[in-house]
Amino acid sequence: MRFPDVPDHEGHTTPVLPDGSLARSAELFTRDFVGYQATCSCGWTSRRRSPATPEGAKDAELQWYRHVMPLAAAAPPGWLVVKSDLLCEQIVNLTQERPLAALTLLSHVESWQRTLLDQAVAAARTGGASWAQVGSAMGITKQAAHERFRAEEPS
Ligand SMILES: [Zn+2]
Repeated sequence: MRFPDVPDHEGHTTPVLPDGSLARSAELFTRDFVGYQATCSCGWTSRRRSPATPEGAKDAELQWYRHVMPLAAAAPPGWLVVKSDLLCEQIVNLTQERPLAALTLLSHVESWQRTLLDQAVAAARTGGASWAQVGSAMGITKQAAHERFRAEEPS
């Protein structure tokens, strides 16, 4: 199972062997299994064991979706990441060729970046995101996110 924009998370409904261990791919067709457990290529494993039935497999699939959905919510679309990386690369080149032009452009980018950041935090908070989720999306701690943006908090 895969989810767009979170390529590092490939989910599996992994059969559980009678001794409680998770089957490796070579064992899948050669041994009996007693249930399913959702696993992910990132190392995550569901704590819940689902029955060894088609419904159990569906349930394990659902567990993986619950693992990956919050990550997908904070993952920008891949095409937009490509554009952002390209813009960065072009500004690096401009800095080498015409540093004053790069300064003018970067000042412009900084002005709309700050506004958009405040708007995105406000929209996430209005949509029910916790400070921990806001911090996680920005790669900072919950406390750092709260201290930086609490003044913008809609009342
Ligand atoms: Zn994962």
